[in-house]
Amino acid sequence: MTTSAHAPASLLVTGTIGIDTVETPLSRADRVLGGSAAYFAAAASRLGPVRMVGVVGEDWPAHHRTILEGLEGVDLRGLETRAGGKTFAWGGKYLDNMNERETLFTELGVVADAPPTVPAVFADSRYLFLGNTHPEVQIGLLEQVPNRTLVVADTMDLWINIAHDSLVRLLSKIDGIVLNDSEAMQLTGVRNAVTAGRRILGYGPTFCVVKKGEHGAVLVHRDGVAVVPAFPAEEDMVIDPTGAGDTFAGGFMAHIARSGSIDLETLQSALAWGTVMASFTISSFSLDAVSRASAEDLAKRYRRFAEAARV
Ligand code: AMP
Repeated sequence: MTTSAHAPASLLVTGTIGIDTVETPLSRADRVLGGSAAYFAAAASRLGPVRMVGVVGEDWPAHHRTILEGLEGVDLRGLETRAGGKTFAWGGKYLDNMNERETLFTELGVVADAPPTVPAVFADSRYLFLGNTHPEVQIGLLEQVPNRTLVVADTMDLWINIAHDSLVRLLSKIDGIVLNDSEAMQLTGVRNAVTAGRRILGYGPTFCVVKKGEHGAVLVHRDGVAVVPAFPAEEDMVIDPTGAGDTFAGGFMAHIARSGSIDLETLQSALAWGTVMASFTISSFSLDAVSRASAEDLAKRYRRFAEAARV
């Protein structure tokens, strides 16, 4: 990765903008704003500007657009409304422990038709986060950002199963990958998160973040390893875990973009910012808590987390 003191820290996210319906043991939310790019942008924008690339259908609720437009620092010029199309919609149900989730439905809608394109005004972006989608689509998107200096991608079990070779090709083109421990194991055949992360670096990236849910995350970097615990949330703080992974990525990437470095120390703080953003996300449905927390709330939570993680 190269950095220039004069270039803007332009962070771009590609991913879904979805209509989510979520059931938890205590309550539910119907057709609320969600999607990987929406959650990512809500968190990232708390630390710096973020450009969003995604596609919605004609049925996209006007009040969802109003919510995104109300997020300071989110540039929506890469948001395409596709005529005649239906917006990505997802339904999920949490079990009693709030850790396990069952997907009730996934309606790809416009996402299945064709990927979004990066508008010319965003082509100079330098920090790129590729939300989870088919790895060939992720490769196509990164190639539309010629000035990229750092690319991090998300993935999921589906692509490891059905597009393994494309995923390996993607890994040779990116700087970092964020995935769950079960996915890291599936990709490498190795149960141990550090060893699995190390194997993934063998495909090309400089670092790999293995998320372990309520047990935090491990970062395996060419220069060493960093760990971060999950935020020690009390039971009554967890209202809806949806979007925790995407807001983790948003806080993580936005801190890297504003720091302009991927040394281990910066990445350790980036992990902490990701964790803090996720801790807000889980305390409400949709983007509410992460977007409404004051700057002081965020800073206070970061300090509380750093204190709790003292070693
Ligand atoms: P997370 O809880 O971080 O895994 O993110 C959940 C969000 O991702 C929800 O808002 C969904 O709309 C969105 N989502 C669910 N399934 C997918 C998928 N297959 N591809 C992209 N986004 C998805």
